[in-house]
Amino acid sequence: MGAYLTLPSLTQIDYLPDGLLSVSPSDLYRVLPQPTLVHLPGRDERPLFVSVLQHGNETTGFLALQQLLKKYGQRELPRALSIFFGNIEAARRGLRRLDGQVDYNRVWPGTETPDLPEAHMMQAVVAEMARRDLFASVDVHNNTGMNPHYACINKLDHRFFQLAVLFSRLVVFFTRPKGVQSAAFAQLCPAVTLECGKSGQAHGVEHALEFLDGCLHISELADHPVPAHDIDFFRSVAQVYLRDEVTFSFRNDRVDLVLDDDLDHMNFTEIPAGTEWGSSCNGAMPLRVVDAAGRDVTDEYFAIDQQRLILTRKVMPSSLTLDERIIRQDCLCYLMERASP
Ligand SMILES: [Zn+2]
Repeated sequence: MGAYLTLPSLTQIDYLPDGLLSVSPSDLYRVLPQPTLVHLPGRDERPLFVSVLQHGNETTGFLALQQLLKKYGQRELPRALSIFFGNIEAARRGLRRLDGQVDYNRVWPGTETPDLPEAHMMQAVVAEMARRDLFASVDVHNNTGMNPHYACINKLDHRFFQLAVLFSRLVVFFTRPKGVQSAAFAQLCPAVTLECGKSGQAHGVEHALEFLDGCLHISELADHPVPAHDIDFFRSVAQVYLRDEVTFSFRNDRVDLVLDDDLDHMNFTEIPAGTEWGSSCNGAMPLRVVDAAGRDVTDEYFAIDQQRLILTRKVMPSSLTLDERIIRQDCLCYLMERASP
């Protein structure tokens, strides 16, 4: 297990190494042994920046890039492309991150932990890309529950909305968690995080591929509003965590909290106050809800009523997942409210 502890350093290259376009995400480490920034030239010199595999089990962005680059083959790209291949070690094991590893998408500039070696690596990526006249930035992710495809932005700017709706009419604005790639690049250029549904779905890869190819062809992002009928816009207002000491399960088990096993069907649906999410066997509040300012607002959203975990106000969740490891490593879900762009 000592291999985990090698500190990541940033490698930069300006070519596609042999095998990169055919290797599987879990074998990528054979081609790129560590996180790598690859720069490829194109007709329009302002590069598109794309990051993939920040979470090792989220393979859609990587697979879409392989297809995109295969499509162009030896031909010149319409636009320069810089690609950051992130947590290759976690991809090797098919995990979001390894135990003992930091979450790569929490250590970009703006992070609450700027002194970690991984944070220094992300600072190096941003510094390198800041020297280039960036066109836009795209960070590609998957989630593990049932979710539609949507785009996230961290800045309320027409060009960001224009970029986001090229992917989906569902657009989410968020300011927490801190240290995400799209928030760091929002300082430099229009930036989005794409959520492409579950890993391994061909239509997710196709959708990401179409979007990325589109970004290589567009010459400008319009600086005027997206028409209201083309967008469903939400603000993320809170993030819901399991308290560290709480044991939980989706099956009836000897644990503190038994969660409903179809919770993820509530994603992107307005859920009324009074909805039961599970049962707290000891009657204690098992969740911690943190708002966009970082305050604990658990009492504003959930209550325990005779061991039942009850939602106390209308919300729209996203990223609800049934994956217990992901809930521990990330969170149970985000809570959103509809907003006007
Ligand atoms: Zn992710």
